[in-house]
Amino acid sequence: MPYKFTFDLSKVPRFFFTEIARVSYQKGMHKTFLSTLQDIIKKFRIQEATGLNVSDAVVLLQDLIDLQAVNLMERKKFLQAKKRALFLPHCSRKYMDSRCKAFFDSSIPSYTCAHCSKDCLVNKADRLAKEKGYDVYILPGASCVPKILKTNRYEGVVGVACGEEIRLSGAVLGGMDVAGQAIPLIKNGCANTAFNMETLVKVL
Ligand code: SF4
Repeated sequence: MPYKFTFDLSKVPRFFFTEIARVSYQKGMHKTFLSTLQDIIKKFRIQEATGLNVSDAVVLLQDLIDLQAVNLMERKKFLQAKKRALFLPHCSRKYMDSRCKAFFDSSIPSYTCAHCSKDCLVNKADRLAKEKGYDVYILPGASCVPKILKTNRYEGVVGVACGEEIRLSGAVLGGMDVAGQAIPLIKNGCANTAFNMETLVKVL
């Protein structure tokens, strides 16, 4: 949980994320970027929905926009990638205790989902990605990424994580010439984090 604040964007309208994508196109094109961010925060009542103060909300939006901009730049290369992997955060598992039947293999290092709960977000994402031919890893953190990429020569990687972890992994991917697509968490924290399945379906 690298942010100094927690957030939950799950109650923010879907249009908010479309707006983020739109603004990512405009980034750098005008000098009123900060005021555009503040307008978006106001328009979507982000402070009311999340309890964040303006400066934390700006940090969060800035990260979301940076991430969308990189996604757009990498999209063409990613679509050409033949060997792909999906990295999921372990904190999105339904359970973080022994009720989760996933097996952790420290030699990879990754959890393997045992599909114990139908309504587990990680379970759903794991099944969907495997159907599409992806290798799936459920990671305790971004520090696992270099080892996995050194062992397996993936051409494209989809990563679900919070902003800071995405930045760390993005640097590793860039250094290894792997095309990345990032999906930000819409709810952060140490457990019960969430991402949007609709977004994942579109990206895979
Ligand atoms: S479905 Fe998979 S990830 Fe979710 S709680 Fe069960 S074993 Fe863990």
